[in-house]
This record gives sequence, C-alpha cells and structure tokens, in this order.
Amino acid sequence: MKLTDTPITQHEFDDILFYLKRDDQLHSHFSGNKARKFMALLEQPLDHIQTLISYGSVQSNAMYSLSALAAIKGWAFEFYVDHIPSWLVENPKGNYRAALDLGAKIKKVDESGLHPREYIEQVRQPDDSCLVVPEGGRFRHAESGIKQLASEILTWTRFESRSEFVVALPSGTGTTAMYLHKYLNPHGIEVITCPCVGGKGYLEQQFMELGETSFPTILDLPRKHHFGNLYKQDYVTWAELLAQTHIEFDLLYDPLMWQCLKLWHANNSHKTLIYLHQGGLMGNESMLPRYERKYGLSPNAEN
Ligand SMILES: *Cc1c(COP(=O)(O)O)cnc(C)c1O
Repeated sequence: MKLTDTPITQHEFDDILFYLKRDDQLHSHFSGNKARKFMALLEQPLDHIQTLISYGSVQSNAMYSLSALAAIKGWAFEFYVDHIPSWLVENPKGNYRAALDLGAKIKKVDESGLHPREYIEQVRQPDDSCLVVPEGGRFRHAESGIKQLASEILTWTRFESRSEFVVALPSGTGTTAMYLHKYLNPHGIEVITCPCVGGKGYLEQQFMELGETSFPTILDLPRKHHFGNLYKQDYVTWAELLAQTHIEFDLLYDPLMWQCLKLWHANNSHKTLIYLHQGGLMGNESMLPRYERKYGLSPNAEN
C-alpha cells in the first residue's frame, strides 16, 4: 500500500498569497504529518508483528494515526497514557473518540507511578511480535516518509523554476521540519518553522538530537506560548483563516505559524510560500468546545 501525491492548492490570507500542500487529504484516517512519519511502517510487510504499542497524550494526533495504521495492517493497538480525565471517558471526543472507534486499547498507567515508556518496558514487556513506537513518532523511521513528501514538493516546484520557494510548517518535535530541510535545502528551497512546544532553544536541541548539522530557519513570536494552552489570538487566527480560505487548519500548531508568517511576510513578500497542511483536524473536535467554554466563542464552522 502506498499513499502519496497529495494536491497543492492556491489561497490568499490577509495579503499573503500562498500554495497549500494538502497532506490533510492523504487518507481519510491516516493523514497529516503523522501518516508521513509512520509511512515506512505502512509500506514494510512486518508480517511478524501482531501488536503495535505506543504512548503519549490521550488527545494526541499520533495516537489516532497509529490506530488507523493498526486497523489497515490488522494489528492490535495499545496506547499508554498517564491519565484519562473522567469527563472524557464519559463523553469521548476528538482523537480519543476516533482512536477508540478504530479499536485502540487506551490504557492509563497513573496508579503504577511509572512513566508510560517505563510501564511498557517494565510491566507490559513487549516481545518480538510487538512494535513499539516512541511518543510523537520521533524516530529514524520517520525520515523515509518525509523524504517522499519532499520529493513531491520538489517535483511540483520544477514547473515554476523562476520562483524563490519557501516551505513553511509549525514544529512540535521538529522531526518533520528537519527532514524536509534535509531534502529541500540542497535544491535551494528554504524551510521555515516555529516552535509550538518549548521555545527556540528547545527546538534547536531537538534538531541537534536528530544528528543533523544544518537546520531549518526558526521564526518565533516575542510572546511566550505554552503547548496545549488556549490563547484567544490563536482561535481568532484560526477563524480568520477559515473565513478567508475556506480551509480548516489545526488549532494547536497552525495559528502560531501563521502569526509568525504575517511578520515574516513584511520582508519576504517576493518569495513564493508553500504551506504544509499537516492534518490534525480530528483534534479540533476537542479543542473547539474548550475554546467555546473558555471564551464563549461561537465558531462559524460547526465541524
Ligand atoms: C505532530 C504534528 C505537528 C508537529 O510535528 P513534528 O514533526 O513533531 O514537529 C504539527 N502539526 C500537526 C497537525 C501535528 O499533528
């Protein structure tokens, strides 16, 4: 099975003309950058595997993508989390609901006092029929799927060789931005990103741990931004994007990148921007009600 070649569409946001690489459209369940990061696992036969195991946050995009991968492969899927709020158990939403629908077994380890990673090692003790994926897909297997993404972008840019292209995407672990940079920078395409988890220093640290020496360009906002917190400005940016482009972006990462891009654009309007849509829309199903509760906002999109 091979999933590739998502479309590139053209849009305008405020005064910024941009192209959008639609990785939200890779597959109905297996989409976005987690699908690219796990693509190597989809493409390899891995016939000896029966159970996929991972860990992280109970609303993570990675959990949902891994449950889709397991469903496609016919594997069982176990996902270990620190904690599951009781309101979520009573009223499943977002990635949590979608993963359960795909057959994921989501297990909390809080009573053991162990980190989920330790719990898997010490208590679950996976054998050779298990495949364990680190949190967020921060592993070397991610490289080949992102390399494929880079080659799709390159092929497309060759039709417009006179433009100075820049590829933009927000970062969590920075894995996607790093490997895109590795395969695009040698062809004269700059990759720009912003840190959504931790600050610039944390992201540089993550880049270094991937063992590469040349890094993507990091844009940053003057104000502090904590991952997963609700910021009214993020919601406003998300709603403006939706109103002007009719594209739904993700609420956790994309608003910050677009706030950075507005500042960036002032000095870089001659460049041709390609924005990478990294999926994550299932997470909006739980983020939107949180915004509505906190700020009393009523979104003009009911999805
Ligand atoms: C995971 C994720 C990111 C961050 O990707 P990294 O490779 O960890 O930097 C960005 N956007 C969305 C929608 C994601 O799911």
